[in-house]
Amino acid sequence: MKVTYVCDRCGALIGVINLTEEELIQLDMDPLTVDLREDIIKSTETGGLFVYSLCDGCVETMEIHEGEWRYRKAPDLH
Ligand SMILES: [Zn+2]
Repeated sequence: MKVTYVCDRCGALIGVINLTEEELIQLDMDPLTVDLREDIIKSTETGGLFVYSLCDGCVETMEIHEGEWRYRKAPDLH
């Protein structure tokens, strides 16, 4: 499944990755059970997922502490 990560703050495209169903479940994003009413995850018309996160620059600017992180971090895209 195609998963697109976009920065919720500046709109930057963080990354697009393809994840298997197993990988999605490991990331707690099982498309069958994930709560799509959560405004940080949306399903797309093409059947993929659209996930709002924060890019590195915004994370630094906002000085978010681990405990306050409400976004789903993108898995290592490198
Ligand atoms: Zn950003």
